[in-house]
Amino acid sequence: MSIPDPDIQHIQLTPNRRMAQFLGQALSLDEWLSSLFPNTLSETEEFIIWEKIISNSELGETLLRASTTARQVASAWQLCLSYRIKHFDPLLVTEDSGAYLKWSNEYRNRCQREGWIDSKQRVDQIIEAVVAGKMPLPCQIQLVGFDEHTPQIKELFDCIAHAGTEVVESSIVGTTVDMIGAIQGQVFTFSAENPDMELRYAAVQAQKWLNQNPKARIGIVIPDLERRRQSVVRIFQETLSNPLFNIAAPVSLGSYPFIQAALLCLGLAKEEISLENISLWLRSPFFEGGIQESIGRSAFDVFLREAGELFFSWSRLLSQLDYYSNELNISVGVLKNTLEKFYALFGRKNECAPTFLLSAKNTTEHWCVVIQQLLIAVGWPGERTLSSQEYQLRLQWDLLLETYQKIGRVLGKHTFSEALFRLKSLSKEISFLPQSVSAPVQILGVLEAAGIPFDYLWVAGMHREAWPPDPSPNPFIPLSIQRVVDLPRSSAKRELKVATRLTQRLCQGAPFVIFSYPSTVDDQPCAKSALLNNFPEMTTHQLGSIELSTDIYKMENMSPSSRIARIDEQAPKLAEDQKIQQGAKSIQLQAACPFRAFSEIRLMAKPLAISTLGLTPAIRGEILHQILMHFWEGLDSQAALNALTDLELEQRIKNSIELSLNTWQSRRPKTLTPKYKMLEQKRLFKLINQMISIEKSRPAFQVVAREQRYVVTLAGFQLSVRIDRIDKTADGEEIILDYKTGITSVGHWFGERPKDPQLPIYCITRPQLPVGVAFFSIRPEGVKFQGLAKNQDLLPGVKTTHELKRWGSDSSFEEQCERWSNTVTKLAEDFSAGVATVDPIDGKNTCRTCSLQPLCRIHSLDHKL
Ligand code: SF4
Repeated sequence: MSIPDPDIQHIQLTPNRRMAQFLGQALSLDEWLSSLFPNTLSETEEFIIWEKIISNSELGETLLRASTTARQVASAWQLCLSYRIKHFDPLLVTEDSGAYLKWSNEYRNRCQREGWIDSKQRVDQIIEAVVAGKMPLPCQIQLVGFDEHTPQIKELFDCIAHAGTEVVESSIVGTTVDMIGAIQGQVFTFSAENPDMELRYAAVQAQKWLNQNPKARIGIVIPDLERRRQSVVRIFQETLSNPLFNIAAPVSLGSYPFIQAALLCLGLAKEEISLENISLWLRSPFFEGGIQESIGRSAFDVFLREAGELFFSWSRLLSQLDYYSNELNISVGVLKNTLEKFYALFGRKNECAPTFLLSAKNTTEHWCVVIQQLLIAVGWPGERTLSSQEYQLRLQWDLLLETYQKIGRVLGKHTFSEALFRLKSLSKEISFLPQSVSAPVQILGVLEAAGIPFDYLWVAGMHREAWPPDPSPNPFIPLSIQRVVDLPRSSAKRELKVATRLTQRLCQGAPFVIFSYPSTVDDQPCAKSALLNNFPEMTTHQLGSIELSTDIYKMENMSPSSRIARIDEQAPKLAEDQKIQQGAKSIQLQAACPFRAFSEIRLMAKPLAISTLGLTPAIRGEILHQILMHFWEGLDSQAALNALTDLELEQRIKNSIELSLNTWQSRRPKTLTPKYKMLEQKRLFKLINQMISIEKSRPAFQVVAREQRYVVTLAGFQLSVRIDRIDKTADGEEIILDYKTGITSVGHWFGERPKDPQLPIYCITRPQLPVGVAFFSIRPEGVKFQGLAKNQDLLPGVKTTHELKRWGSDSSFEEQCERWSNTVTKLAEDFSAGVATVDPIDGKNTCRTCSLQPLCRIHSLDHKL
């Protein structure tokens, strides 16, 4: 048996680190045990061993998420050791607990074989060492703030006490600071409208207490603090200035953008990378040149998005960057340099062997070197001077790598992708809170707060559904055993016992304590926890006429009539002779919504392109236009078309398709794969054949223009337009044609605000008025003409104005053109004059296909919808 060492007089131990920090000289129990037995497995190592055992087992192969199971199994193992559960009664063994017994057997054997000791086995080792007289012990151990001990820990301290060390227990309650204006020993309850309002009341009350006593220590206790961290930060920042409060809920290291950038960079070390990740890289300030070249990099991001591919190979990415910087003359030299250095480390270039073979298995030490080199190549963490928080995060990154290196003994050799997976997992498991100056308002969870004295305490979230919490027994230990042994979270009875004890502790935590609860959660009514029934309810008035005075709160609760609205719908006029490239589109948008026309055409406000799988409808439309342009090249009339033999016609169609698809294949190699291209060829061949049959059945015509661009002047400004095709009849009169692959309607040409004025614009801007204007609709469900003609039988299916009475046009073709001229001129005048009213023609239906809502704030003008 060990005997107390007179050189070690006194040790103070607490259940957690926070309380130890509060006491100053104390250690948490875990820290002390680690100091006695240093070389134990870390929690992560334990978890990896469990995960490997489960994944390699017969049952594990059927599990979808071995990692989630591993966590519960590891917890079951710790509970069994801590509560001295040595075996399960065979009659009680279920499928889950049976699997646990097999896995735990293997875990135990593996630990023995490798000489590994985990955190719970460590306690038994210490007990053995104390009994064997091999453990130095202090003269006195003071246990502060423990509510209960597991049987294992109780056995440890019994053993230590038996060896002659004095073991005393105490709690820390009571205040050390003078109170000003507080009601000694009083406990109240308080009801707020909802969880957010509850936090607002708490924040405002904390400010009020501070006003009364700037030195007061204030505790704000929130049971589900980790889950609500973001809203807690937001609400307290709106009310209290930042240095006045600290939040004890740590956040995972991996949630800081600084660390995410490093992990992102490592994730790009593979041959094919996603546009999403490249885009994150380009917008990050944490790589060399990220700030200096931010504008060029953002523009390159837009450029890549418009390329429309979801994935890029490294060689394609670098060639796109070359094109972007050379052809477009945009300076992104640092980016180019860092990407090339980065890729040279692992890329499979012919001319030089890669420095690192990422697919090979290797040790954690090796991968740490690789990781450092990759990060150096890209200049992480960027060129600016690090802030205090970033400096701390930089140190945390080194610690993360150290931790990863340590788990090498349980990981063995592994690939780079597993190394990255482990690093990401570790970054989620490791919590980090930047060091901050001590603040008078401490926001913490229940377990951390119980036992720490404050001058004022506000405990939130104490409603019946949340306090006491529901039991959550471990699925791998038979339930009846859990209840007999009284394991944590095993039964409602135990939860009630623990919650009652914690409530008592919190009541003693300050001379003035408020337990608050929301009266509704998610619109469901809530009642106060039954554990608080004995405490008097406090009204807002009694609380001291709290005025929720934050600006945000005031704005949120302001009635619409008291808001000051300032609406500006008049943009500057267009400059004289200004040329607008998207001619027809500007008129179309002006008709649909004047604000949209102003924003998209003049401000060039447009959403970032979104890449999708496959070819988009817009690209399919472009491909079809190109095919038809190639098809009619050198073939200028119906007579020439009719003169082609079947074989010649087939070959011409195939060549046109091939030419067009080849262009797109070089632009979208990852999308237009050989298989996809073959399917498209078949689909297009069928469609073009149908078109040609219709062309042959029309009255004789000549093709006089294809994809013709010209500039017209409307209301004093110049519009650039492009007509798909102009044909001439045998009488030399023009027919305007527009190829369409989307849904079309001639009805969209009429009215004061036509939805699709493109063909009317073409019609009225020709030097000679045409005799017909039509869509050539090319869709899988049918190929046909749709339009308006001066005379019957001009084009198959195209009607005269008299036949189209349902659109309100019973006048002659010339009169209709006159109306179009007036309508289009009026829209052009409005556009030119800067009319930018937020006025969608069909309300919500128009807005559904527009992405300008954040800019026009249509939702604030609800009368419009
Ligand atoms: S969202 Fe609606 S109101 Fe706003 S610009 Fe677009 S179409 Fe106009």
